[in-house]
Amino acid sequence: MTQALRILVVEDDPAIRKFLRIALGAQGYDYVEAATAAQALGHFDGPLPEVIILDLGLPDGDGMDLLRYWRRISTRPVIIISARGQERGKVEALDAGADDYLTKPFGTGELLARMRAVLRRHTAATPERHEMATGNLRMNVERREVTIAGAAISLTPLEFKLLEVLMTNRGKVLTHRYLLRAVWGPGYASETHYVRVYMNSLRRKLHADASSPGYITTEVGVGYRLRDDPET
Ligand code: CA
Repeated sequence: MTQALRILVVEDDPAIRKFLRIALGAQGYDYVEAATAAQALGHFDGPLPEVIILDLGLPDGDGMDLLRYWRRISTRPVIIISARGQERGKVEALDAGADDYLTKPFGTGELLARMRAVLRRHTAATPERHEMATGNLRMNVERREVTIAGAAISLTPLEFKLLEVLMTNRGKVLTHRYLLRAVWGPGYASETHYVRVYMNSLRRKLHADASSPGYITTEVGVGYRLRDDPET
């Protein structure tokens, strides 16, 4: 039996949360919920949800901010649920990387169909690269684990995302601009100091063991490269 897919619902209206809890629970999904943006962030520390169903109007912040943050750490699907007449917010959310939207009120059948569609597209677009390795460095994207010679390394979500991009492109020189777009998003293309700061902290963590080789090389004036042959 496969493990139930975790769905995070971020919605401040308790009636809609109850409706979704029943609808998704009945389908066997692993349902988790948040009534505020802060509660939603709490769910990003453990196993990440496969799909987020996100209301844009939250009491403690804008669902857009949550969406932008999520896009920095994950490519997994987000479905916006918005009130009728909020066309502008919907377009903004799609531009920021939301996968689809539903207008309230919506029925169970429609929601489940949209969820199946975004999951299908996501799976088709994601190559099999859950487990990646170079030298002693191993990364399991699905389990969010990074180890060096079997010892676990603890990374922040952004460091993890940065390493994931480097591992996916190991052996290749990645420009500052490419890394900014891939890790932080299209709006951050000129913030090169972000890359420097996070690359430094990532390097410190990867090089914590004096006997481990240098994994990340600096290509002066261009960017960085994760070595594909760190033993040599
Ligand atoms: Ca709301």
